[in-house]
Amino acid sequence: MAINYRSEEEIEKIRKANAIVVAAHKRLEEILKPGISTKQLDREAETVILDLGGRPSFKGYRGFPNTLCVALNNQVVHGIPDKTVLKSGDIIGLDLGAEREGYYGDAAQTLPVGEINEEALKLIEVTKEALMKGIEKMKPKAHLSDISHAIQQFAEENGYQVVRAFVGHGIGSKPHEDPQVPNFGPPGRGPVLREGMVLAIEPMVNIGGSDVEVLDDQWTVRTADGTLSAHFEHSVAVVEDGFSILSEF
Ligand code: MG
Repeated sequence: MAINYRSEEEIEKIRKANAIVVAAHKRLEEILKPGISTKQLDREAETVILDLGGRPSFKGYRGFPNTLCVALNNQVVHGIPDKTVLKSGDIIGLDLGAEREGYYGDAAQTLPVGEINEEALKLIEVTKEALMKGIEKMKPKAHLSDISHAIQQFAEENGYQVVRAFVGHGIGSKPHEDPQVPNFGPPGRGPVLREGMVLAIEPMVNIGGSDVEVLDDQWTVRTADGTLSAHFEHSVAVVEDGFSILSEF
């Protein structure tokens, strides 16, 4: 396993790619409402990325057809945008990536559509907070699995389960690099974190069990028991005194 350690200059390039990702997310937040289709969201995200001089990095990656990965309600990640129209009460996971000048950004969030119930709202808030609990463990000399453990612990304290089958990853001059970043496990294991490591940390949290299944389209992942799932992701660098979120909204 070869982990890349990025210079400050490279980290700034990864931050610029992430700024494009964040701009696309902000646009999606503005237009998200009941009645819009996931395909419309995809087109809008692509327009923002291209307008800002980026390239949609998910499009064509291992054959994925779109700019945006969507995940509606009991879907976990990797759904393909289509004519599906969002309705009030839905929650929608939005994951997107962009490449600029050879460097990559990647971030995801789960948003409410119209009015959602308290159960769905709590899931979203806990998943977002679980991501921050993981990020807060990032500093030189910590272990990779300190991140994993903090995420799992916070999710489970709140009565939820983390998905095991999909994990976070290094990011930089490729959209997915070593190391893998699981959202579960004991602390104190795995690679020692060092200044210059850049990780895309992305907890997927389910109200029910942690098991997932892939649909016939070979992409869309949903919970095996049909319960709601939420997903948040940031690209984050290990820096001298801790961490720096490169996809800060
Ligand atoms: Mg990712």
